[in-house]
Amino acid sequence: MDLYEHQAKELFDRYGVPTLRGTVVTTPEEAAAAAESMDLPVVVKAQVKVGGRGKAGGVKLARTKEDVVAHAEAILGMDIKGHTVHKVLIDPGVDIAEEYYMSFLIDRSNRSYLAMCSVAGGMDIETVAKEQPEALAKIAIDPDEGVDLAHAREIAAQGHLPADILDAAAATIEKLYRVFDGADASLVEVNPMVRTGDGRVLAIDGKVTLDDNSEGRQQDLFAEYRDNSTADPHELAAKEVGLNYVKLDGTVGIIGNGAGLVMSTLDVVAYAGEAYDNVRPANFLDIGGGASAAVMEAGLRIIMEDPQVEAVFVNVFGGITSCIEVANGILQALGQLGDSLTKPLVVRLDGNDVAPAREILDNAQHPLITTAGDMDEGAATVARITASRLGQLDAKK
Ligand code: GDP
Ligand code: MN
Repeated sequence: MDLYEHQAKELFDRYGVPTLRGTVVTTPEEAAAAAESMDLPVVVKAQVKVGGRGKAGGVKLARTKEDVVAHAEAILGMDIKGHTVHKVLIDPGVDIAEEYYMSFLIDRSNRSYLAMCSVAGGMDIETVAKEQPEALAKIAIDPDEGVDLAHAREIAAQGHLPADILDAAAATIEKLYRVFDGADASLVEVNPMVRTGDGRVLAIDGKVTLDDNSEGRQQDLFAEYRDNSTADPHELAAKEVGLNYVKLDGTVGIIGNGAGLVMSTLDVVAYAGEAYDNVRPANFLDIGGGASAAVMEAGLRIIMEDPQVEAVFVNVFGGITSCIEVANGILQALGQLGDSLTKPLVVRLDGNDVAPAREILDNAQHPLITTAGDMDEGAATVARITASRLGQLDAKK
């Protein structure tokens, strides 16, 4: 999981890395208020999880209060490489004497960590690596040994940082390593790490990627920094109950077990939907191999709550799961959803215990359930029902 710059710098601060602690705002008025309590100039910085903001016009120095408002107005809502800016960081402006580059990352090819350091910071590091590779030091780090102050000083020296700043740089670099190690990051990058006029070494930008494999032991960090504002609420709800759900833009809700089966279901529904306008899958939802009644209920609930969904196709192959469990899960879910349930369901079950499971559904005589003998039939049926609900049945043939 990537962190926003302001989150990365907050994390730096916790580990004692010298950095800037500005204020995050979402409107020009808030920007003006934030600048009120700071000395001018301040820097207005777009918060998007993509690099090259400076070049794209997403980082601006403001010398007056009017500038702060004008820059915030210009940057909020800006599109930077496909990312809309919803937040800006108002940071205290610093007196920059030099700009360096510093990063720690996981070097998978060498099965170790790697430190990269360069006196040529501030600019795109890929360009530095290409045009002046001698200016970019790459130093393998043994994860068991880590990085102490002496080691950090050596990294700075190899990056050709000036001799008189090595001690200050080493202190900052050693703490950056503690962030990398302590947060189980796969990347900690500071570009630029600056030398100020008064000889301090500060991280004024920060990019941190937390290793998703470490979520189990970094639960607090993941919970704190997860960006819930831009994610789809149904995706979040699904994640909470451990379901694999992706929102798509169509009108047919899809539930299946096993990623492969769900993918095929999307295909056959898209194909069946071609006969009509706007009949396409509304989501991917894999309830997993051992799908229980409770999981089916949770999945159906998420899909039913999507206002774009007109009808749902449940396509389950009973391998590990008995179809009896699935059939009961569906009925139980419909019972729980009660009156809020108005969307028809096409159910195709196959595999383990399919005959008694179909009997359970047939006996229930639920007005919203149609059963299908196979996947193609189910897809055709759900497409027709969806088109009819959208009033498109006669639109095309
Ligand atoms: P990026 O383009 O997304 O990497 O954004 P950065 O945070 O690295 O900012 C780009 C550039 O803006 C830096 O290299 C600095 O030259 C400049 N900059 C950023 N913050 C400050 C600041 O506080 N004061 C000054 N004077 N310049 C800044
Ligand atoms: Mn940068």
